[in-house]
Amino acid sequence: MNTDRYDVAVIGRGMIGGAAGRHLTEAGFRTALIGPGEPADRRRSQGPFCSHPDEGRITRIAARTQTWSDVAAASIERYADIAARSGISFHTPCGFIAAYPDAPDWVTRAAKYGSDARLVDAEWVRETTGISITNGLGLVAEGAPAGYINPRRLVAAQTQLAMLGGADVLDAAVTEVCRHHGGFELNGSFGSVTADRILVATGAFGSDLFDWRLDVERRARTTVMARLADDGRIPCLILDQPPDNRVWEIYWVPPVRYADGSVRIKIGGNRTDTMLLAPHELIDWFHSDGDPVEIESLTENLFSLLPDAPLGDIVTAPCVITGTPTGAPYIGWVDEGVAVAIAGNGSAAKSSDELGRLGATLFSDAGWDSPIDPATFTPRLL
Ligand SMILES: Cc1cc2nc3c(=O)[nH]c(=O)nc-3n(C[C@H](O)[C@H](O)[C@H](O)COP(=O)(O)OP(=O)(O)OC[C@H]3O[C@@H](n4cnc5c(N)ncnc54)[C@H](O)[C@@H]3O)c2cc1C
Repeated sequence: MNTDRYDVAVIGRGMIGGAAGRHLTEAGFRTALIGPGEPADRRRSQGPFCSHPDEGRITRIAARTQTWSDVAAASIERYADIAARSGISFHTPCGFIAAYPDAPDWVTRAAKYGSDARLVDAEWVRETTGISITNGLGLVAEGAPAGYINPRRLVAAQTQLAMLGGADVLDAAVTEVCRHHGGFELNGSFGSVTADRILVATGAFGSDLFDWRLDVERRARTTVMARLADDGRIPCLILDQPPDNRVWEIYWVPPVRYADGSVRIKIGGNRTDTMLLAPHELIDWFHSDGDPVEIESLTENLFSLLPDAPLGDIVTAPCVITGTPTGAPYIGWVDEGVAVAIAGNGSAAKSSDELGRLGATLFSDAGWDSPIDPATFTPRLL
């Protein structure tokens, strides 16, 4: 480990922090990338937890805002390079379908990047994929590179490249940050390191490290995973106004193999009366099996949308989404020497490489390097 002072310490080694650590290192900064891996036993861990320990996260260029299309397209363009240089593959381009009232706008946003996203009808969807969509909304189908990424493997790939570039990776939580000789001292079970500046990418956690507070919501989410063999026909899906309306939107990732060897389709959604968590409630939530109402609704929706699929037993899990009032992540300075790249709003996995890169550009002399107005990401404090 480098015992000298780092140029930048990135706190949080998840999807955005891992990407930022790589970009900072590859831009020549002496970087410490600090954070624990996922808890070995979720039910006993005292955290911090992460929002990415899973086998599938949807990736697509078609999105509900142009900003989300822009950051997804920029990230997706680099997937192959990240996989090739790290030796860790993480992308399965199996396609994507969305059912949304403004479906034509999703197509327009994606077309900017040469995506094949196009409008289709419910009959085509039923025949091609077996999904029965009856809500009458506009339907978008997008082929490769849309599909899913393995978020654990993407984090591993980013970490690997950061280390190859010379970053020091400290595999533990930061428990204290103090100002120190014009920079910072960061403490944890790894000991103590110093850095000129800090990038905070701690997802739903980390609010106790500083005296400023971000205007974010920590939204409880539950996932249901039903056993289902992969018939190669089912794409990723996002659907507004699902048949069971206790959730207002559902998404799923097609059948993938989980750590216990089972192959399962995973469905999640946004509950109409979203449960918000205070920082001190996060750990109990991660020890739970999720929200029973959401589990019931998601299961109902899965059976309605895949009426002919031989769905088997289900398992459930809790997760948390960090959301902002703007719907965009926060990427910017919040205090002298301290920037954040935080709050994925449930959509950042696919786009994490670009969000991390934008976080890294805050530290460079060349400054912001994106056609997106940086004000889109300005952090709001309480
Ligand atoms: C159920 C679910 C499904 C989702 N589906 C999709 C999808 O299909 N497509 C998509 O694009 N996005 C999806 N998302 C969103 C995506 O997973 C998140 O936006 C993304 O993980 C956010 O990345 P992050 O780096 O901000 O947070 P995380 O990935 O959670 O990383 C934060 C990291 O900070 C660490 N940390 C916290 N406190 C400290 C500390 N004190 N010291 C050091 N480290 C600390 C944590 O250990 C963690 O590793 C989904 C999210 C959930 C919950």
